[in-house]
Amino acid sequence: MSRYLGSVCKLCRREKEKLFLKGERCSSNCALNRKRGKNSPGQHGTLKVKMSDYAKHLREKQKARRMYGLTEEQFSNYYKTAERMKGSTGDNLLKLLELRLDNVIYRLGLASSKKMARQIVNHGNILVNEKKIDVPRYRLKIGDVITFPEKYKANAVIKKLIEKTVSSVPAWLSFDKSRIAGTVVGEPFAGETSHPINSHLIVEYYSK
Ligand code: SF4
Repeated sequence: MSRYLGSVCKLCRREKEKLFLKGERCSSNCALNRKRGKNSPGQHGTLKVKMSDYAKHLREKQKARRMYGLTEEQFSNYYKTAERMKGSTGDNLLKLLELRLDNVIYRLGLASSKKMARQIVNHGNILVNEKKIDVPRYRLKIGDVITFPEKYKANAVIKKLIEKTVSSVPAWLSFDKSRIAGTVVGEPFAGETSHPINSHLIVEYYSK
């Protein structure tokens, strides 16, 4: 399935929670704060329907997939990889998603949304261990250091973001503001995602 190109606020309305897909606007002018935003999108959005267990599992999977901006196929591939790893599949899945390069850029505060983070990576503006990496799905590991090329550090938008960054990076990342360098110092734990995700429900969805 191809990438979703419609209104991202509709995705939040569908999941009935903020997925923070629009960067700074999500804090200042969120559609969910408006009366209409509280309903699901579509003609029957105002109807109150009791969710089946299957619907709960599906919604959690969709929420996670949308938060990370992945297609069905990409998300399902992450799940299959998580299943093959040792330990809890749900925890492994969240770990794989969190360690994506675009997600780490976002978590370091170097992009105001995951979409912006993906663009920064796609445009070749990220170095991992001094080597240009332009693949948003690139999986980071402990010890990897993320920096910008010198010319990009002068970019006005990035300067502004760096000024604001980073009061609270997750415990598995560190950020050196003087060098503008982020480092992966540990592995992300379940519960350290940018937004709460119940990975058990996702495992239930794929176990059917
Ligand atoms: Fe979701 Fe952000 Fe739109 Fe609010 S403004 S509905 S959080 S994408």
